Amino acid sequence: MFKKILIANRGEIACRVAATARRMGVKTVAVYSDADARAKHVAACDEAVHIGGSAPKDSYLRWERILEAARATGAEAIHPGYGFLSENEDFAHACAEAGLVFIGPPASAIRAMGLKAESKQLMEKAGVPLVPGYHGADQNPALLQREADRIGYPVLIKASAGGGGKGMRLVEKSEDFAAALESCKREAINSFGNDAVLIEKYVLRPRHIEIQVFGDTQGNVVYLFERDCSVQRRHQKVLEEAPAPGMTPLLRQKMGEAAVAAAQAVGYVGAGTVEFIVEQPGGYDQPEAMKFYFMEMNTRLQVEHPVTEAITGEDLVQWQLLVASGQPLPKQQSELRIQGHAIEARICAENPENNFLPATGMLAVYRKPQCASFEIGTVRVDDGVREGDAISPFYDSMIAKLIVRGDDRAQALARLDAALAQTHIVGLATNVQFLRQVVKSQAFSNALLDTALIERERDALFGRDTVGRDVAVAAALAHGLQQELAQQGADPFSRRDGWRVAGRYVRSYAWTYRGEDLSAILAYGRAGDADELVIGEGAARSQIALQWRALPDGRLELNLDGRRTVAVVHAQGHVLSVFTEAGSAQITEVDQLAHAGDTGHEGGRLTAPMPGKVVSFAVKAGDAVSKGQPLAVMEAMKMEHTIAAPGDGVVLELLYGPGDQVAEGAELLRIEVAA
Ligand code: ADP
Ligand code: ADP
Ligand code: MG
Repeated sequence: MFKKILIANRGEIACRVAATARRMGVKTVAVYSDADARAKHVAACDEAVHIGGSAPKDSYLRWERILEAARATGAEAIHPGYGFLSENEDFAHACAEAGLVFIGPPASAIRAMGLKAESKQLMEKAGVPLVPGYHGADQNPALLQREADRIGYPVLIKASAGGGGKGMRLVEKSEDFAAALESCKREAINSFGNDAVLIEKYVLRPRHIEIQVFGDTQGNVVYLFERDCSVQRRHQKVLEEAPAPGMTPLLRQKMGEAAVAAAQAVGYVGAGTVEFIVEQPGGYDQPEAMKFYFMEMNTRLQVEHPVTEAITGEDLVQWQLLVASGQPLPKQQSELRIQGHAIEARICAENPENNFLPATGMLAVYRKPQCASFEIGTVRVDDGVREGDAISPFYDSMIAKLIVRGDDRAQALARLDAALAQTHIVGLATNVQFLRQVVKSQAFSNALLDTALIERERDALFGRDTVGRDVAVAAALAHGLQQELAQQGADPFSRRDGWRVAGRYVRSYAWTYRGEDLSAILAYGRAGDADELVIGEGAARSQIALQWRALPDGRLELNLDGRRTVAVVHAQGHVLSVFTEAGSAQITEVDQLAHAGDTGHEGGRLTAPMPGKVVSFAVKAGDAVSKGQPLAVMEAMKMEHTIAAPGDGVVLELLYGPGDQVAEGAELLRIEVAA
């Protein structure tokens, strides 16, 4: 076995490879770009070498620098991860020339599978089933049009050098072909520097089912069963599971053997994935009628490999290191078994509501599932970031992979949903809530899978209010009161008996939730009694008996009309992110004083928004205050108003005392706001 390897990648895959290497007693060398100087993968390795600027072409794709780093640190082998140099035959070749082991297939196998068209010609010879189509060298547009007409619409035009869901065009009818071809070629030349295309029949109700294969230098090749990756957006995978729902033992064996034949046809060594497109002409519940066709082979470790690890109990990175160091495969085909069901969710920085547009920003809050109720080993989080890290525009938008296992699919799905509910990310848009909607959708939970699932289920997946307005308001309100309690030591609530005269006290709030302005009024009486919360007006008005308390772990227990909900609230300025078992949402506090006109707090003068009585001051002269911190409570027109610090600063003086009546616009206290 190697003593030391270099990991020529970043993020979660670099951390994942490092974890297995460490377990095996193999030392690791990380490489990093400017943007990654303090990245998790750097800390995860024993040594690290800076290789250049933030853009991939200035660092993770500079293979001379990477080879130099390997030489300088005495690494014997290079693990390329996925993406970047993993499918670069020149790099694999250069490693060999430099006397380093490339932890991956031979350069010749990468080349053979590198172009979709050429690999299909090879597969045809090896007897692997192909989607009806055209994958010839002649790229004459008139010929391509004739071929598409012959195949029959709809067809898919694919860039032969394409990958990652890019460079594909669906063409519904003959008249559209020429324009689609032109635009596909344009994208292909820009993205891959090669504008050759192939044409395929667009498969009906297609499912993406792929087979994990593994070969060793002794010529053995096995398959570690299948993964279903049908749930996709923009032809990119979102949820991946193993085994594939509805798979029959016979179909599994046929696909497994076809994948092994594909690997053997190119002298494959190491981890690889043969992707098949599966047609369901008989509908979703007719697995006997499923037909599979070779799509492409990915000559590397795949993003979704952990689901295979979860159902087989094998560590695929360990297998990679063993095979790369010349050892035979740890298991033969007959020794491999499927146990249970596993599913992976890709948590990405993106906005599903805006066409999955990637997002960048800081992980202000990043909490992973605690999974206290799970058996050990059933929930796994693979990531390359920590709370406080930035998702930069330089790299992939994937934040983490959440992988769960269950005894069967229903249990795996339930565990995934629970784990997603406990994944709290604040600071940038993510697809966490969207993933939960998909997992809970009828189509997905009943395994009616095909690559159009997200599109088909649109109504159930997008634009849902999962938390609910009333819970969101109650959570935000309880959070605010809890903050007051923490800051003031004694809040109006703990003292309510003291200053209750008759009737109930009232506070008013204003929020925006899902684009709508909301008013809320909280009326409260004796400690122990439920508060009365009125939200909204007119037909949208609801009146709720509310009780709340902070649990020792900081979560808020809310009881709305006898229904208990536990919420976690993270505040960023006026924006509160509310997480409950049902979902997550944002609610924004509207600064009522700012709306009350100029009487608010310009120039460090804090004035009464209306005539009334000063209830209490939460600060005294000389106190340092931070923006948003409550300073004073005023009561007027049976409403309470909290006067909050407009910015960070210091209290200069209080101009009234508790119980004093003040006129509208009267200056209550002075603070000096820091510039
Ligand atoms: P896979 O093919 O492994 O299921 P995708 O299809 O989503 O994953 O990935 C498409 C391409 O983008 C692949 O070449 C993959 O190696 C690369 N890729 C995906 N995710 C990342 C990432 N986080 N960092 C770098 N490359 C990535
Ligand atoms: P990439 O290299 O970008 O991963 P693939 O050839 O693997 O490209 O195809 C990506 C996705 O496009 C598949 O997972 C599937 O959803 C869809 N797809 C590809 N070929 C077909 C086809 N012939 N019919 C229907 N859908 C297809
Ligand atoms: Mg693919």
